[in-house]
Amino acid sequence: MEKVRVRFAPSPTGPLHLGGVRTALYDYLFAKNQGGEFVLRIEDTDTARYVEGAEDYIEEALEWCGIIPDESPKKGGKFAPYRQSERRNIYDKYTEQILKTDYAYIAFDTAEELDTIRAEYEAKGDVFSYDNKTRNRLRNSLSLSEEEVQKLLDEKTPYVVRFKMPVDRTLGLVDIIRGNSAVNTDVLDDKVLVKNDGMPTYHFANIIDDHEMEISHVIRGEEWLPSLGLHILLYEAMGWEAPQFAHLSLILKPEGKGKLSKRDGDKFGFPVFPLNFTDPATGNISKGYRESGYLPEAFINMVALLGWSPADDKEILTLEEMTKEFDLNKVHKAGARFSKEKSEWFNHQYIQKTSDEDLMNILKNSDLNLNIEDEKLLKIIHLMKERATFPKDIYENGKFFFEAPTSYDEKASKKAWNDETSSLLTEFAENLNSLNDFISENIKQNLHDFAESKGLGMGKVMMPLRLALVGELKGPDVPDILELIGKEESIARISNAVNNFK
Ligand code: GLU
Repeated sequence: MEKVRVRFAPSPTGPLHLGGVRTALYDYLFAKNQGGEFVLRIEDTDTARYVEGAEDYIEEALEWCGIIPDESPKKGGKFAPYRQSERRNIYDKYTEQILKTDYAYIAFDTAEELDTIRAEYEAKGDVFSYDNKTRNRLRNSLSLSEEEVQKLLDEKTPYVVRFKMPVDRTLGLVDIIRGNSAVNTDVLDDKVLVKNDGMPTYHFANIIDDHEMEISHVIRGEEWLPSLGLHILLYEAMGWEAPQFAHLSLILKPEGKGKLSKRDGDKFGFPVFPLNFTDPATGNISKGYRESGYLPEAFINMVALLGWSPADDKEILTLEEMTKEFDLNKVHKAGARFSKEKSEWFNHQYIQKTSDEDLMNILKNSDLNLNIEDEKLLKIIHLMKERATFPKDIYENGKFFFEAPTSYDEKASKKAWNDETSSLLTEFAENLNSLNDFISENIKQNLHDFAESKGLGMGKVMMPLRLALVGELKGPDVPDILELIGKEESIARISNAVNNFK
């Protein structure tokens, strides 16, 4: 069997969005599942749409996700260069080759001429298409005499190379995910293959590179499905064997209708990009999953399941597990609805799987500027991670470990504090003060004995105590809070509350 080689071929026209990450991930998973290679190729032939920094962004995003290419512009490889803008001389020879066949011709129509024709069609309520029905009336090497063509060439008239779409041929299209379909060439137009500056367009460069780089499987977004007929014919024209194709369905908006767009992130309040991206033109920052507190493992797990279900419907899978189980035949034909709640659920699950030490490193490297000993921070993490969706939640929900409450929740105060509470807690604080080994277990016993001696249920003491320590009726077990805050600070907080409710 031929070696499986799969490429991810983004154009550096902006940051990679969720759909792009999923394509890259499926490319990678399929390649690795088959023991093959995963290639990153940058398709930068469209200079008008080039965005500064986009290529670096793509590479950094893939690295953060753990989707590491075997060959890429930075890494190099057997088929370098991997940036299309650096492959011009390779394309030139294939331009010559296709022009010798009956599948291509040169066309001299200027942009203005084509605009005029387009407008004429529109005025009649028609749509102009440069195709097998119109090409003979336009200015190209099929309609003009050999002498006329030569004259234009001698005068250095700019021209493009167009594909000569055959007349009335039915093409069979095979897609691993979608099965078989057919298209008649009469609905396809004569696409430009080489622009007037000599650079190939996406279609031509793409098939040349896939051939040259020995790509066996093209797995890409469904927006490229309408181009499949042309691509199949380009392979035929060049006399090359075509790779196998798989087109991935869309990622849909949370409501289930319409494609998830780059602007939906701001609209629905979730990131649609893996990393923050600063638009070089406007300075606008689009939010990324990384900066929003997602763990890369949770992120790719979530992305992988947008359109693919592993055999036993397992939901939590590492990259290695996904690689083992990935099967293109199990990729869904229908669009996958994005869910913010589900992506948060994944992150929550992965926070639970992350060790306290690793979470500590994440928190210490964040912008929180935590000023606390490691040992204490580890204990806080241990107590708080169960309720955390993002690493920062550990701090946000456990702020009282770092600073004393400055106010007391009104509703909670009404519920927890009455006339007797102040003297009750003052007495309990004295109890705490005499406790030698200030650990949760001892505190719990003490609390229990104290409540019993007062003929009260534990809750009656615990509730105001929690209010004094936390400022509201939230948080983990009170004895755990007391131990972590420490004897001195705990007593100070009780006394603060007593003064406040005087
Ligand atoms: N450069 C194209 C894109 O950015 C690649 C499409 C393909 O994979 O063939 O979508």
